[in-house]
Amino acid sequence: MKEETIVLHAGHRRDETTTSVAVPIYQTTSYQFNNTDHASKLFSLQELGNIYTRIMNPTCAVLEERMSKLDGGVAAMAVSSGQAASAFSIQNICHSGDNFISSTDLYGGTWNLFSNTLKEMGIECRFIDPTKPEQFENAIDSKTRCIYAETLPNPKLNVFPINEVSKIGKKHNVPLIMDNTAAPYICKPISHGANIVVYSTTKYIGGHGLSIGGLIVDGGNFDWESAGDRFPMLNSPDPSYHGAVWSQAAKPLGPIAYILRARVILLRDYGSSMSPFNAFTFIQGLETLPLRMQRHCENAEKVSKYLSSHKKIQKVIYPSIMSGIHKDRCDKYMTGGSGALLGFELKDGEDAGRKFIDNLKLLYHVANIGDARSLAIHPASTTHSQLSDDEKISSGVTPGYVRLSIGIEHIDDIIEDLEQALNKI
Ligand code: PLP
Repeated sequence: MKEETIVLHAGHRRDETTTSVAVPIYQTTSYQFNNTDHASKLFSLQELGNIYTRIMNPTCAVLEERMSKLDGGVAAMAVSSGQAASAFSIQNICHSGDNFISSTDLYGGTWNLFSNTLKEMGIECRFIDPTKPEQFENAIDSKTRCIYAETLPNPKLNVFPINEVSKIGKKHNVPLIMDNTAAPYICKPISHGANIVVYSTTKYIGGHGLSIGGLIVDGGNFDWESAGDRFPMLNSPDPSYHGAVWSQAAKPLGPIAYILRARVILLRDYGSSMSPFNAFTFIQGLETLPLRMQRHCENAEKVSKYLSSHKKIQKVIYPSIMSGIHKDRCDKYMTGGSGALLGFELKDGEDAGRKFIDNLKLLYHVANIGDARSLAIHPASTTHSQLSDDEKISSGVTPGYVRLSIGIEHIDDIIEDLEQALNKI
């Protein structure tokens, strides 16, 4: 099936009991076992099946299968938020004393998680500037468990060199984890060499601003077993699961050692599972993701061209209108456009940025991205206000910088609102 069909049909044709075509919300905590033999086979993973909704749920399973197929992976796991997806993606293979490498261009919440919370747990994050992909190699040592980056990090919106860095990782048996939150459908990190993909489904996958959620897709394309000592958490007996060795236990089930461990250990122990109701809302969103992404991209490109010729604006940041290496990477990794996110710098600095936001009538002033509605924020006075002036500049947030997430409304209405807001500065 092609992507537009996968998002509507994969993982569910009709409910076996009721013949319902819509995916039912299986709002249940538990599942009746056939007998004690059946129950013990499920618990010992000899047979896969529903045990308890903290670990798996049939509504979540449809979302997982659709997202995994859409991305070309082998399995996926839904979790309670994008933050939980990022944290689990690392904690599944890193423990105290280990390190991992991350691009410096990260969502602020992920930056905090990596530089503070994981550090407190004894997991070291080594930050590397992605403009020099070769530097990722210098940071790898015998305790490095993975490389982490975002496909389209804002505010700089420089597309990450997925293939270049995945090759470095492959040379050293280090998997590449990509946060593809800002570019679902238009970028397929696994096809460019990434091994694990994480999402905040809160954004485009849901699209309607209804639910917080996250998801991890396992590409099934990393040989954990031959990487041996680099992954003790997958290749040595796990005392918390009767000494299971995950790379071995997963063998009869397919190349799913990574996601199997994440599910039966991390969901079991931390319990950050996605609720069936939220999975249902994400399934509704996912059905129209390809159509919405096309419209997001078309509208954002038109807005970027409109803003580029405006006299009060000194710079517009949108991947497909960039030049040089950034444009080359955009063309290499993005198909059908470069997403809804767009930044621009007002000539008159912070005051103008604040006024612009206050003047908006149609665009919402919110911290979210990827909603079907158009959204705007002035990072210097909000999301990045706790950073020092130097930190703001190095993360790409100048005083007059405004971030837009362009929705799927009629383009004329979006531009009219931007115009009236700019005129009144
Ligand atoms: N990753 C990226 C790129 C994000 O933009 C966000 C949230 O803005 C997250 C992860 C965290 O997602 P959530 O808010 O669903 O926890």
